[in-house]
Parts: sequence; C-alpha cells; structure tokens
Amino acid sequence: MHGRVARTERLTPGMVRVVLHGGDLEDLVMPDATDAYVNAAFRPAGASYDEVFDPKAVRETAPQGEWPARRRFTVRTWDAGSSELTLDFVVHADEGVASGWALNARPGDPLVFEGPNGGYRPSAASAWHLLVGDESALPAIAASLESLSPAGRAVVRVVCDGPEYQVDLESPADLDLRWLHRHGDERDESLLLAAVEAVEFGDGRPFGFVHGEADEIRAVRRHLLQERGLTRRDLSCSPYWRRTMTDEAWRRIKREYVAAMEAEALAS
Ligand SMILES: Cc1cc2nc3c(=O)[nH]c(=O)nc-3n(C[C@H](O)[C@H](O)[C@H](O)COP(=O)(O)OP(=O)(O)OC[C@H]3O[C@@H](n4cnc5c(N)ncnc54)[C@H](O)[C@@H]3O)c2cc1C
Repeated sequence: MHGRVARTERLTPGMVRVVLHGGDLEDLVMPDATDAYVNAAFRPAGASYDEVFDPKAVRETAPQGEWPARRRFTVRTWDAGSSELTLDFVVHADEGVASGWALNARPGDPLVFEGPNGGYRPSAASAWHLLVGDESALPAIAASLESLSPAGRAVVRVVCDGPEYQVDLESPADLDLRWLHRHGDERDESLLLAAVEAVEFGDGRPFGFVHGEADEIRAVRRHLLQERGLTRRDLSCSPYWRRTMTDEAWRRIKREYVAAMEAEALAS
C-alpha cells in the first residue's frame, strides 16, 4: 500500500506528525486495535525502482543494496471518511532513516507500507489500565486512552526529554498521568521503572501496556511479573527499539532478546 504526504506538523521539538492521503489508502483495512502499526518501507536514494513499489517484489528483483529500509510506526488515527492516515514520528538526535524522512517530508511524498496490524485494545474487563512507555509509544498510548470509557481508570507514565516534549493526552476515563523528564545521563534508563515501582496499585488487577526502549521495557515487565503478581496474560510488552542500535541491528537479535525476556517470566 502507499499514501502520499498531505501535510506535516511539528508536534514537539522531538516529534513530527505526518498525515497521509491518496495512493491506495481507500483500500486500507484498519484492525480493531489501538496499537495498530504499519511496516513502512523507505527506498534508498538513487534506487533503480519507482518511488511507489512493492517491497516483496523489490527484494526478489533488486540488488540487496537497493532494498528499502523497514521501520514500524503506529497508526495514531485513521479517518475512514477522508481516508487520512496519521503517523507520529519521533525525530531523535541519532541519525535514522525514518526520523530523517519525517523531518524532510513534503506534501506529495509517497510512503510505502504493509499493514496495518496490531493486537491490543484496552478491555472494559480490566479493573484499571497501566500504560508505560517513551515517545515512540505515545501514539499507541494516546489512541488507547481515547478508547476508554468514562468508567475506566488509567495510570500513565511516559518518559521524554522535558516539558516541551510532552503532548496532550486526553481520555474520557479517570486519568493519573505523570511525565518523567530525562537528565541526559545514565539515570534515564531507570526512570520508567522507578515511576512504576512508585505506583500505588490498590484494588483490582490492572492490564499493563508497556512499549518503548527495549531495556527499559524489560525492566518494567520484570517488576510487574515478579513483584506485582501480574501474569503474562495481564501484559502487552513490546521492545520497540534498542538504544545504540539501528532497527536493522535490533531486528537481527530481537528474537533472541525476547526469548530471554520471556524466560525471566517463566523463572518467576
Ligand atoms: C510495533 C511498533 C510500533 C512503533 N511505533 C512507533 C511510532 O508510532 N512512532 C515512533 O517514533 N516510533 C515507533 N516505533 C519505533 C521505531 O520503529 C524505531 O524507533 C525505529 O528504530 C526508528 O527508526 P529510525 O530510522 O528513525 O532510526 P534507526 O535507524 O532505527 O536508529 C538510528 C539510531 O537512533 C536510535 N533510535 C531509534 N529510535 C529512537 C527513539 N525513538 N528515540 C531515541 N533514539 C532512537 C537508535 O538506537 C539508533 O542509535 C515503533 C516500533 C514498533 C516495533
């Protein structure tokens, strides 16, 4: 599938919103999930194939050096009426294919992708909802919060670089939201864990949505399973990205990493 950039918006110094329209978006089928994501394909400069392409066909016909870079991005909103798809990109200090694309996106630029796919939507059966992550998880956290009912309760902890990096999060539910601000040193890696350790659980079993940087997610997950008595069925955990690694490097070791993470749960 592909869409074309309709407009962009700088939401914060660290986040660019890209709204896509046109292309074949009218055929998009949105899954029933608030963490739905597309698997975008970024064509390298100078590639011999068209700017709108079939990623699978390119892998079969083009030399490996021309294969597109693959990156996943959450659907912030899908407006079926206008066929507009909104994605929010973290534009981080480290150079990245996707981050760079979003910073330079201009109206009319195509974005090729597969999906969307996704698996999480807050259930009314959960006593309350715990949503934890960094900026990369904000689109999913925002969409999840908007889907809650007024009878729901959500505790949200999000880490970002500072007050100007925060985005508006709204929910009909009772919302306990705290932003954690990085210091720019090694303390940053345990900010989310410390914030979750400080949450008063009270009555009822929460469902935990924990997505973001791999090691931070893993530490929070371990705490929830081993010290808060949650089970794997009470959690959606996804190590979206890994500090110091490009997505290509991360995907090469992700399966092994996730298996080791899963084994920690079994040991509890
Ligand atoms: C299912 C899923 C949904 C996702 N949804 C979103 C989303 O909606 N929005 C979003 O921004 N990201 C999202 N991500 C994360 C995103 O795919 C990765 O962050 C990806 O690595 C970004 O690609 P890049 O080309 O910008 O950087 P890369 O080329 O992959 O990495 C370059 C450098 O930047 C660092 N880096 C990568 N991501 C970040 C970051 N977020 N903050 C700081 N440094 C970083 C890397 O560690 C590396 O050192 C999602 C990931 C998954 C698996």
